[in-house]
Amino acid sequence: MKCYNRRMLRVDLTKKRFFVEEIRDEDLKGFIGGKGLGIKILLEKLGKNVSPLSPENLLVFAVGPVEGLTFPGGAKAGVFFKSPLTGVFGESYCGGTFGPQLKLAGYDVLIVTGVSDKPTYLKIFDGEVEFKDASHLWGRDAYETEDIIKRDEDRRIQVACIGPAGENLVRFACINNVKGRQFGRCGAGAVMGSKRLKAIAILGTGKIEPENFEEYNRIREYLLEKSKTILKSLTEYGTAPMITLMSKAGALPTRYWREGEFEEVEKISAETMKKNVVKGNRACYGCPIACGKFSRVESGPFAGVEVEGPEFETLYSFGSLCGVGNLEAIVKANEVCDRLGMDTISAGNVVAFAIECFERGILGEEAVGGLRLSFGDWETILKLLPKIAYREGFGDVLADGVREVAKRIGGEAEKLAVHVKGLEPPAYDPRGIKAKALAYAISSRGACHLRHFVHRPNLVGKHAFKKDVAVDRFSHEEQVEMIVELEDFYTLVDTMILCRFVCLPVIGPLLWDEVTRLYNALTGLNVKTEDLVKTAVKINQMVRVFNVREGVTRKDDYPPERFYREPLKKGVADGHVVEKERFEGMLNKYYRIRGWDRDGKPSLKV
Ligand code: SF4
Repeated sequence: MKCYNRRMLRVDLTKKRFFVEEIRDEDLKGFIGGKGLGIKILLEKLGKNVSPLSPENLLVFAVGPVEGLTFPGGAKAGVFFKSPLTGVFGESYCGGTFGPQLKLAGYDVLIVTGVSDKPTYLKIFDGEVEFKDASHLWGRDAYETEDIIKRDEDRRIQVACIGPAGENLVRFACINNVKGRQFGRCGAGAVMGSKRLKAIAILGTGKIEPENFEEYNRIREYLLEKSKTILKSLTEYGTAPMITLMSKAGALPTRYWREGEFEEVEKISAETMKKNVVKGNRACYGCPIACGKFSRVESGPFAGVEVEGPEFETLYSFGSLCGVGNLEAIVKANEVCDRLGMDTISAGNVVAFAIECFERGILGEEAVGGLRLSFGDWETILKLLPKIAYREGFGDVLADGVREVAKRIGGEAEKLAVHVKGLEPPAYDPRGIKAKALAYAISSRGACHLRHFVHRPNLVGKHAFKKDVAVDRFSHEEQVEMIVELEDFYTLVDTMILCRFVCLPVIGPLLWDEVTRLYNALTGLNVKTEDLVKTAVKINQMVRVFNVREGVTRKDDYPPERFYREPLKKGVADGHVVEKERFEGMLNKYYRIRGWDRDGKPSLKV
C-alpha cells in the first residue's frame, strides 16, 4: 500500500528515549489512519482510569493516507488522548502544516508519553529526533514560541506548541500551529503542558505518491472544479456567514443560551468582517480553498491586532453568546486566546456562564474578584481571559471549564450550566434544531458539532445523503438513522484525516463513494463503500468501549437540562424546548441501531 510510511514514532519524555515501531499492514487496512489508529492505540496502550494530566496519559498524533500530498482538504492531523476537560475520549483536529510535516518526516503516528523533568521541545527532522531545552520558551505565548523556534532551528520547520494556558493546565488549553490553526477542543494543550512539552517542531523532506496517480488526479481535479463553485463562499468569506444564517434560523445561542437570535448580528457578520478587518486569505498546506481569513484591526483601541479568523464559532462564543456586538473586541479576544493557547469555544462559554451566574445573583462581586460582569461588556471579558490562562483569582476557577465551575458554585448554577460530558457546545441551539440534542448527547467527546454535522441537512432541509428526502428541523425520531449515518461518515473522514469542508453533507463534493474512490486510488486497494462503512462502525464501537471503560453510562448521554425546561426566546424558534419524552425516544432508537443495551453498553469486546 502506498501513501503510508508504516512507521510510528514513540517518544518517552521521562526517559528521554524514542524508538520507531513498524505499523503492520493489517492494522493500516483495518484502521486506515487518524481516528482508527488513535482509538486502537489508546485502547491497547492506555490503562483504565489513568488521570488525564498524569505522565501515563498518551498524546497520539496521527495522519491518514492523504497527508503529504497537495490535495484540497488533505492537510490535517488528529490528536487522540484522554481529555482533562471531560475525562473521556479526547480527539481534536488541526489544519495548517503539522500533519503533512509529520507524514513527510516519515511517520504516520507520533505517540508522546511520560513527563520531562524540565521544559522541553521535541525536534523531529526526518529520522532525527532531539529533546531540546525549552526553559527559555516556558511562559512565552504561542506566536513567540513559534517565531523563536523557527529563528533558532530552521525557517522551514513547522511548530505545534502550547501557550501559557497549556503550561498552567487550563483544561481547555489548545495546541497551536502556524499562528491561527489549533488542535482546539478537549484540552490537548493541558496534556502537553502536564508533560512539560512546550512544542513539537517538525521538518520532513520525504515524498508521498499515490498508487494510482491518474485516478487520484481525476478526483483532485473534480474537487478543484467544485471548489470554484459549491465551495466558493468558503474561499470568499470563510465560515463567518454562518453567524447570520444561524441568527435568522433562530438557533444562534445568544446571551448564554437564553435567546436564539442576536439583534446585533450585522455588526459581526461576514460582510462586516470583510469590509472592516479581513486583509486576505490563509490556507492549510497545499489547499487551494484557503478558507482562513487573515484579519487586522486598523483603528480604535485594538489597532494593530492581527489574527487568523475569527471563525464562525469564535464570532458566536465571544459575540452572540457573550452579547457582544463589537467585531474588533472579538478579534482581540480571538488573538488573546490564540496567543495564550485556549480553545475559543470553551473560553467564550465559561466566560458567558460566569456572566449568566452573576446577572442572576448566583455569583457575587466578591467571588469574581471585584469585577462586575454583564453581557455585552467586552472590556471586562477581555480582562478575564488572561486571568484564566494564568489561573489568577477567579480565573483559576474558570480554567476548569463550565462543568467544574458549576459544581464549585453548586445549586442553581448546575441547572444553568450548558455542557455534555463536560464539553461546552458550539453554536447550534438544539431547541431550534432538534436533531442537535441527540448529536450533542451521544457525541463521544461531549457536545460537538463535528461528529455528525447534522445542522447542515437541517438548515437546508435536505437529507445528508439522499437528495430527494426532505428534513424538518423540528422533527425528532425521524432523524436518528441519518444521525447514525453521519456519525459513521465523519468517523471515516476523521480516520482518513480529511477536512470536513470537502466532505459536506448534501453537497459533498466528497461523500461515501468519492471517499472510497480516493482511498483506493491512494492505497491501491480495491475496497467497496460497504467495507469502509463497516470499518467506521467498528471504530465508533471501539470509542464507545473506551468511554464505557472510563465510566460513561446512559446518564451521560443527555443534553443539558436547561434545554427541556427553558423555552428559547426570540427569533423563529421562539418558545421551543427539547421535549424530554421525544428525546428518550431518539436515544432509545440510537442505542438500538448501534446494538447497545439500554444503558448504552456495546456488546463489542476489545
Ligand atoms: S478547506 Fe480550509 S480548513 Fe480545510 S484544509 Fe482547506 S484551508 Fe484548511
